[in-house]
Amino acid sequence: MKYVLVTGGVVSGLGKGVTASSIGVLLKACGLRVTSIKIDPYLNTDAGTMSPFEHGEVFVLDDGGEVDLDLGNYERFLDIKLTRDNNITTGKIYQHVIAKERKGDYLGKTVQVVPHVTDAIQDWIERVAVIPVDGEEDPADVCVIELGGTIGDIESAPFIEALGQFSYRVGPGNFCLVHVSLVPVLNVVGEQKTKPTQHSVRGLRGLGLTPDILACRSTKALEDNVKEKLAQFCHVPLEYIFTLYDIPNIWHIPLLLKEQKAHLAISKVLNLASILKEPSLGEWTSRAELCDNLHVPVRIAVVGKYTGLSDAYLSVLKALLHASVACRKKLVVDWVPACDLEKETEKENPDAYKAAWKLLKGVDGVLVPGGFGDRGVEGKILAAKYARENKIPFLGICLGMQIAVIEFARSVLSLHDANSTEFKPETKHPCIIFMPEGSRTHMGGTMRLGSRKSFFNVKDSKSAKLYGNKTFVDERHRHRYEVNPDMVERLEKAGLSFAAKDETGKRMEIIELPNHPFFIGAQFHPEFKSRPGKASPLFLGLIAASCGELDTVMNPAAVHQHLISSNCPKNVFVNGSLKKSPNGVADVRYNNGYCNGLYTR
Ligand code: GLN
Repeated sequence: MKYVLVTGGVVSGLGKGVTASSIGVLLKACGLRVTSIKIDPYLNTDAGTMSPFEHGEVFVLDDGGEVDLDLGNYERFLDIKLTRDNNITTGKIYQHVIAKERKGDYLGKTVQVVPHVTDAIQDWIERVAVIPVDGEEDPADVCVIELGGTIGDIESAPFIEALGQFSYRVGPGNFCLVHVSLVPVLNVVGEQKTKPTQHSVRGLRGLGLTPDILACRSTKALEDNVKEKLAQFCHVPLEYIFTLYDIPNIWHIPLLLKEQKAHLAISKVLNLASILKEPSLGEWTSRAELCDNLHVPVRIAVVGKYTGLSDAYLSVLKALLHASVACRKKLVVDWVPACDLEKETEKENPDAYKAAWKLLKGVDGVLVPGGFGDRGVEGKILAAKYARENKIPFLGICLGMQIAVIEFARSVLSLHDANSTEFKPETKHPCIIFMPEGSRTHMGGTMRLGSRKSFFNVKDSKSAKLYGNKTFVDERHRHRYEVNPDMVERLEKAGLSFAAKDETGKRMEIIELPNHPFFIGAQFHPEFKSRPGKASPLFLGLIAASCGELDTVMNPAAVHQHLISSNCPKNVFVNGSLKKSPNGVADVRYNNGYCNGLYTR
């Protein structure tokens, strides 16, 4: 196993996660199998309890792990499935060490940060790195480890020490340290300044780690003299210094690294030169360029609680993007704060109320994402009502599906008190109720988390068609409440269709309004499995419906073609039939049919 460690210096928010994922993409394109580990030096054991306001979304894995959103970047970029143990936190490591201490495993020794915590970190990395994550049976070739935070943080000290020791443990030729840093440009003189990077490299060395490669964030490519200065002061050879300058979309980053021959630098450090192929990034190139050249907009309202921080809905945003690119539309997201749609706001802040409704009324489609707690719930219900009554395409995810059921019960069944017991425990018409998989009396550990099967049971439903008429789908969940089984029959009689259920038939997984152009709700979170070349079917449905092209993506043959072509970049679909593209690489000029996994009309 070879390891690439990615650290960050100078400031946070440099895009270390995207850089690390892009390094993974580049190595994968060279024929290597890649896995990844994200280290978060915070004390929380996992991201499950962290506020999306502060930390961005909680990403959910197949095994139910609630993890840092960077694992989402890895899964999307590398098309892999990670496990909860691929996210290491201080909390997890200490929990492990303290449990061992209580069992007496340390045989009377004084348990200390060095060596016990640092050993635990190294053992954890070695154990997790060999878990296959790409569907194959053997371990990957390379593990990309991203260390969260910035060099010099107090809380990352044990990890830095452990990683320094680890580089010795695995030996030269097996460990490559990429340090992501910032080269700011001072406006007045327009000069690229190297001092912050010099300082952070010095900090890194002071802590016992030596960078092999520097990846410098800057507005433009680094000038030669700036690179020379960095090489001289940071002791990193010129050909191992790369610039990640500002680009129009993040899919360019693997291409930027390839252009600067980062794969050669990494392969030299890791002694991989003999097995490395020339990277083939045809699919990434066409997608990145296609994305830059999309002009026809599709406007989607995201009606949520955390609209001030787009990272809070990162996977939803990515899934919308994947679907829009697949439909060859430029995604425009209008963030609508759910609270601002409510009557209360009309009184307290009429301008915000008017602005929110104006935004909502200007969109092509409405998405209500998942959420917890009652703030903004009534606003989300109003948004679902607006979409239902005005035949605007609607996708409700988790809480978004639950509020759509509440709205339907209130408006169509005239159950004005209908609610979820999460928000109004004493409601006379509980259409959403607490249905834990575990204990009913303990909140801890009662969340329905991770991958579960949903079986389609309604013939000709739009969702089944979008999923290619499969019998079931495996999507990820994160919720406690569900549609009340006792109310299903009444809701069904009134016209709400339950298109998919779990294997017991008791848990409602997908709702649909058959007499609406596109009104779908899912109890699961389809966004977590969306990939750049394989848009999530329900998102594809929302976007296609929002631009009047739903029939095309619902045609089973078309969806099938979409999947084949995304797996087979050398084939393109032209007017529905499979053709080899002239240069062997899918060509974005084929704008009628499917091309390179992209729906191209
Ligand atoms: N709060 C709701 C529940 O617990 C919805 C959760 C979600 O949207 N992820 O069921």
